[in-house]
Amino acid sequence: METALLPVSPDSLQRAAALLQAGQIVGMPTETVYGLAANAADPEAVARIFTAKGRPSDNPLIVHIAELSALPQLADPPALAYKLAKAFWPGAMTMVLPRRDTVPDCVTAGLDTVGIRMPSHPAAAALIRESGLALAAPSGNRSGSPSPATAAQMLADMDGRIPMILDGGPCEVGVESTVILVREDSVRLLRPGGVTADDLREFCLVEVDDGVLHPLADGEAAASPGMKYRHYAPAAEVTLVTGTAEAFAEFVTAHTASGVAVMASREELPRLPGLHVPFGRQGDPESQARELFTALRRCDELGAETVYVHCPPKRGIGLAVYNRLLRAAAFREIVL
Ligand code: AMP
Ligand code: MG
Repeated sequence: METALLPVSPDSLQRAAALLQAGQIVGMPTETVYGLAANAADPEAVARIFTAKGRPSDNPLIVHIAELSALPQLADPPALAYKLAKAFWPGAMTMVLPRRDTVPDCVTAGLDTVGIRMPSHPAAAALIRESGLALAAPSGNRSGSPSPATAAQMLADMDGRIPMILDGGPCEVGVESTVILVREDSVRLLRPGGVTADDLREFCLVEVDDGVLHPLADGEAAASPGMKYRHYAPAAEVTLVTGTAEAFAEFVTAHTASGVAVMASREELPRLPGLHVPFGRQGDPESQARELFTALRRCDELGAETVYVHCPPKRGIGLAVYNRLLRAAAFREIVL
């Protein structure tokens, strides 16, 4: 199959919507990362997503909507969900809610909940409206690889596997959406993202799930199934290093060798030995989120065997960056 990479236009949106209506899958830009979309109501179309990604069938998909009126058709939300939707939609927040029977089992991996998000990227909203569908869409990478932050990254993973990718430019946020389980008067943070725990605390109690920062114990069930898989991982062995810029420089100088790459802010890199992987600006966690997946992919392009990542602060969106890095590093972390 030829994969067409088309800039977003009224014509390409129409073609993408027609493919979705015909049960095909399409790459779409969102403000978080690129997604691989299918008609959420069509189990055969949804099955194509799992095949193209090589995704385990017990990892549920997020359903994307463009209007609040679509929410009660898919889920049975408590009042708090409407309050949060008003504050953070359209945007990088996915709410896990009691599902309705209208959502097929293959979307929710058989769970009695469904994850729903209203993306803010104009092309994603336009595609949902043009198709008239709710779109099930996981990140557009092959399962296990870093999520795509550009259309070219998605093409590298999906070339020949899907008919079309809409190119809407690089993603603004760069990491996947915040996933929260919404209860009557509190939420549980299952995956940190662009909407931070502090943002949510303005509206309700926020409990951070253990799986956000710790590996699951043997036999423990994941509150968010996606978090249990090895993820975002380049071929190289990744180690996180936490400490000041000076301590990090000393550490990598002592551990440099051929095939060793360092992933650090642009301000730090000129002073560091090894293969350089730029990772945002110092003290600017938004820029580090935006560049995270491009940086992880860069490690492979450089043929790195070992990567030392200078870990950003774990506050705000930095928590989302840290959560993804932990999985890329299989939880290998050195605190200096
Ligand atoms: P992705 O679309 O690739 O960003 O992955 C979707 C993420 O949302 C995965 O980590 C899932 O585990 C999580 N998710 C989706 N639906 C649910 C749900 N009903 N319950 C818990 N987590 C969910
Ligand atoms: Mg994903």
